[in-house]
Amino acid sequence: MKAEIIAIGTELLMGQIVNTNAQYLAQGLAELGVGVYYQTVVGDNPARMKEALQLASQRVDLIICTGGLGPTQDDLTKDVLAEFIGQKLIIHQPSLDNIEELFRKRGMVMVESNARQATLPEHGDPLPNDTGLAVGTGVTHAGKHYILLPGPPKEMKPMFDRYARPWIEARMDSVQPLFSVMLKFAGIGESLLEHELLDLIRAQTDPTIAPYAKEGEVAIRLTTRAASADEAASRLGPLEAEIRRRLGQHIYASEDIALEEQIVRMLTASGRTVAAAESCTGGLFSDLMTSVPGSSAAFRGSVVCYTNEAKRKLLGIPGELLEGEGAPGAISEETAALLAERVLAGTEADYGVAITGVAGPAESEGKPVGLVYVSVLRKGGAPQTDRLQLSGNRETIKLRAAKNAMYRLWKLLLEDEA
Ligand code: ATP
Repeated sequence: MKAEIIAIGTELLMGQIVNTNAQYLAQGLAELGVGVYYQTVVGDNPARMKEALQLASQRVDLIICTGGLGPTQDDLTKDVLAEFIGQKLIIHQPSLDNIEELFRKRGMVMVESNARQATLPEHGDPLPNDTGLAVGTGVTHAGKHYILLPGPPKEMKPMFDRYARPWIEARMDSVQPLFSVMLKFAGIGESLLEHELLDLIRAQTDPTIAPYAKEGEVAIRLTTRAASADEAASRLGPLEAEIRRRLGQHIYASEDIALEEQIVRMLTASGRTVAAAESCTGGLFSDLMTSVPGSSAAFRGSVVCYTNEAKRKLLGIPGELLEGEGAPGAISEETAALLAERVLAGTEADYGVAITGVAGPAESEGKPVGLVYVSVLRKGGAPQTDRLQLSGNRETIKLRAAKNAMYRLWKLLLEDEA
């Protein structure tokens, strides 16, 4: 099956927003084994939208549109598609009931235009919207399949994953199920990962290799269609083994979990705990750790010692280390190591982590933005401290610093497991 993604919205054309929907859909379709042959962006203009549909219907079998399902006058996608395939728009009663219910609950008055969000082409199947109001649709006309999804990613993604994917699968020739493996990486950037796997990515046909990158996290999903789990394993296994041979030291999980989750699991399994001293991350490391359910068994606590005074008073870091002529300063290997030791001792944890650095935008202690020291140690061991030069804005540097600290902690936990 060949597909085209049509993203609708003048904001996209003008560069006011980035077309992340197309990226998400292209990855999702690749996993399904559907080839995306074209991506189009068109403004909220009925004549040009129709032109785009016309062209797409001549060159692919599946056309997925996103955007323009809202209540306002410039949300025209459904009207244009209905006219294009010669169907009337009808009200989908369960969707209208939902919308009415929501307005009633919120004590808001529903205007007529909101009912537009509950319309469908008369022979279309509804695709429910679990996170918003506008119902989506899947409809087949003259041998071509059309899917309409809402623009906001928080509505589009669940609608695609939960309802559009199965709708597409039911219309594909191959009915073999999909099997996939997710590999999660730490301590390696997206571009280096791609560089290391470039030959495999370029040669991919089956299984497919789809890289995913979120800030601070990199993952790849290997996917194949097969008649049985054994057959899938015979194809996924060798590819995974080759990737592990090249980058195994960075793979912390073969399922979709965050690094903090893996750390909590490892600590819980060994009955050990960690504590942190955070300066430039301002508690982000601790926030991520405690967002994992059950982390209380693994995370003792942390000290957010942002100022030198806090480092002195709360963790007893000597003033001469922090300030004065020739002192290493708060952002130094010595301070990072001592912070890790002190917080481990003070909380009686099994592992200590410390992060101190310059998140920016201005330099500090004459040290450049992005310079971060991360120190980890195990009880009774010596601190292992790394000097990192991270890039990005303040927020990104904080996240990268926290994730880097986790990566080093994970390595230490691995060593102790062995
Ligand atoms: P609404 O009911 O919110 O009007 P809609 O289905 O009509 O939804 P649009 O009005 O086209 O969608 O877009 C709403 C918002 O969704 C945009 O302002 C933008 O933030 C986001 N959005 C739309 N299209 C895309 C896209 N292709 N990629 C990423 N975000 C998008």
